[in-house]
Amino acid sequence: MKKPVHSKEVKNAALQRLNERGVTVEDIAEIVYLMQSPYHPGLTMEPCIASVQAVLEKREIQHAILVGVELDMLAEKGMLSEPLQTLVATDEGLFGCDETLALGSVFGYGSIAVTTFGHLDKHKVGVIKRLDTKTSGGRVHTFLDDLVASIAANASSRMAHRLRDEQEAEDERTALLADDAAEQAG
Ligand code: MG
Repeated sequence: MKKPVHSKEVKNAALQRLNERGVTVEDIAEIVYLMQSPYHPGLTMEPCIASVQAVLEKREIQHAILVGVELDMLAEKGMLSEPLQTLVATDEGLFGCDETLALGSVFGYGSIAVTTFGHLDKHKVGVIKRLDTKTSGGRVHTFLDDLVASIAANASSRMAHRLRDEQEAEDERTALLADDAAEQAG
């Protein structure tokens, strides 16, 4: 029996694929920043980067990256069989499997992830726009643009929930301190 693939190997391969295809963690974090900064004044890049890194720890996401990028790369080399070759290479509008693969990993992060993914799919923000327009230059990013949208959407949702948790914990601390102060004064 073949030895199972170690998670570290999967994770490293997924991160390497992203890098090889010209996408950095910072690129994706930038999208998270753009999506969330209207709701969180004073937001910095740091929690956005941390959130993207946390999402990339998920095996489900890593597998989706490996599948999607592999198909992009094979299409780029003309190695898929027809008609799939043309469907992927031309980013055929009705193909839809690229969105489906990416969408599959969005449900785990709740409604903010789902709505953000829809928004990014439509409006192509940051590196997604760059990938989307690059398809013409012999490069194929049919799957990658949706995968990046999915990672950014998941990271946005994760961060929104974290920031709320932190805010509530902070509010509770402030309330406790105020109670203590009132007690001492009384
Ligand atoms: Mg696509």
